[in-house]
Amino acid sequence: MEKIQKSKDGARAKLRAHFLANIGRVMNSEELRAVAGISEWARRIRELRDNEGYLILTHNDRSELKPGEYLLEIAKPQPAFDRAISKETRAFVLDRNGFTCQMCGAVAGEPHPYDSVRKTRLHIGHIIDKSMGGKDEPSNLRAICSVCNEGASNLTLTRPEQLKLLTQLRRATSTDQLAALRWLIAKFPTQASSELDIKLKESNSAA
Ligand SMILES: [Zn+2]
Repeated sequence: MEKIQKSKDGARAKLRAHFLANIGRVMNSEELRAVAGISEWARRIRELRDNEGYLILTHNDRSELKPGEYLLEIAKPQPAFDRAISKETRAFVLDRNGFTCQMCGAVAGEPHPYDSVRKTRLHIGHIIDKSMGGKDEPSNLRAICSVCNEGASNLTLTRPEQLKLLTQLRRATSTDQLAALRWLIAKFPTQASSELDIKLKESNSAA
């Protein structure tokens, strides 16, 4: 039993060292299988990602990666707090935030607005940092994409002011305005229907 455990840890350690020695280089499954020396190499990679927090990217994260290709771009693992939050809390927060990054508005699974070759992957972030006494509670958590989480787009990502937002919307094409309308109706179905009721009454009484 102990021997099996050792070979598992050994394969994971070999993969970890290999990824860290090849930051920024795309590697395929043959190479990684050979490095690990075991058939369950892919599971060890998942452990590096899920348990240790290494941001190992695949074709699910990047459209330019082919299935079976892996890429580690930054050596620093994700902070442990993101992984310490329960699955239920994570699901609750993602659902409450509409699977949308609360900093830049990127939607999970869609190309990222500031880095269109990346598919948006969402993490759970703290509103008040844990170091400042913030808790792991849903009220202190929000969905945040990996681009914002890495701080790559901090400067561009203040929340738009209402006036600016409406100006942008007025200047947009009808197709984009209608897309915004559909998104708003999906987000605020009750409010949308009561607004619509008021509008219809107004136009009926005017006629
Ligand atoms: Zn974002």
